[in-house]
Amino acid sequence: MTMLKPGDTIGILGGGQLARMMALAAAPLGLDCHIFAPEAESPAFPVAAARTCAGYDDHAALAAFAAAVSVVTYEFENVPADTAAFLASRVPVLPGPRALATTQDRLVEKTFVNDIGLATPAFRDVDSLAALQAAVAELGRPSVLKTRRFGYDGKGQVIVRPGMEIEEAWSAVGRNPSILEAFVPFALEVSVIAARGADGTVSAFDVCENQHRHHILATTRVPAGIGPATEHACKEHAARIAAALDYVGVLAVEFFVLRDAGGERVLVNEIAPRVHNSGHWTIEGAQTSQFEQHMRAVAGWPLGSVRRIGRVEMANLVGDEVDAWREIVATPGSHLHLYGKRDARPGRKMGHVTRITPE
Ligand code: AMP
Repeated sequence: MTMLKPGDTIGILGGGQLARMMALAAAPLGLDCHIFAPEAESPAFPVAAARTCAGYDDHAALAAFAAAVSVVTYEFENVPADTAAFLASRVPVLPGPRALATTQDRLVEKTFVNDIGLATPAFRDVDSLAALQAAVAELGRPSVLKTRRFGYDGKGQVIVRPGMEIEEAWSAVGRNPSILEAFVPFALEVSVIAARGADGTVSAFDVCENQHRHHILATTRVPAGIGPATEHACKEHAARIAAALDYVGVLAVEFFVLRDAGGERVLVNEIAPRVHNSGHWTIEGAQTSQFEQHMRAVAGWPLGSVRRIGRVEMANLVGDEVDAWREIVATPGSHLHLYGKRDARPGRKMGHVTRITPE
């Protein structure tokens, strides 16, 4: 692994807000970002040193992109396998192929998590109506049917409730290969943002407590309302996942926290091989942001300090919630981030706001 030098360029696949915040974090380190994205109005384009607007299957554009950058990373896990392989034959792609292959498919991901000794909700492979019927009989109702691929923010999933026709659930996921998960009566949802450097060093930010609205992250609070043993377990689990994937870069691991008379325990819900919405608080709330940390890791640089600076609350501005920008920008101590998207469509992440309270 070579170490990038100031003036070198990091290529980023995807041009959304995550790529935008990566490019903004790379600039003070003297690193340039080259964004490759198919959409002309990509939020990352205006803040990047270079941009390519082309499809992920455009080999001529990909070859020119690979020639112009020292390393390629990405802001989304659904990078087509062909695109990643084409680029990887020309330039390092980080995180590597194992991370993408594992996290693009919920069945592969959950099997991997169990194989390294970590608990997930009980799940079954569902590839037909008959398999779904058998799985519902085993896991009971309610249970959660999720497509194996291309699911995010609650898309591609349906709760199989008492009384629901099995055919209806199967149609709701488009009869696509799926998994059925036991419904988890969790007390809260948390996530860990961790980074693994090129030298294998792992460093995790404090655990975040997340609240969702309509399946979209609404708020993140740090510290999370969990005990120290749970905090430690989440960080250790993330480190184990990162090491097993031979990972370089930032990753997020989402957990369900269960509480009963025996105390707290966690189940791994999902792994995101990238910077994550629940880590946006680190921009002002930690000594190094998740975006800088990712740039450092893929550049082969040492990781920065993950020390938290205070109590933090991050709120997403979804759809027309972005209209609150005037009040936010007039409130001392509120840090406004807007992503430069024109249309405030319902469910669209338009920006976020972070507030820090000294501890
Ligand atoms: P996911 O896309 O798998 O992260 O799921 C989106 C959200 O749906 C989660 O953040 C939970 O709030 C809810 N959810 C997903 N799976 C389950 C489950 N097995 N039991 C209960 N709630 C779930």
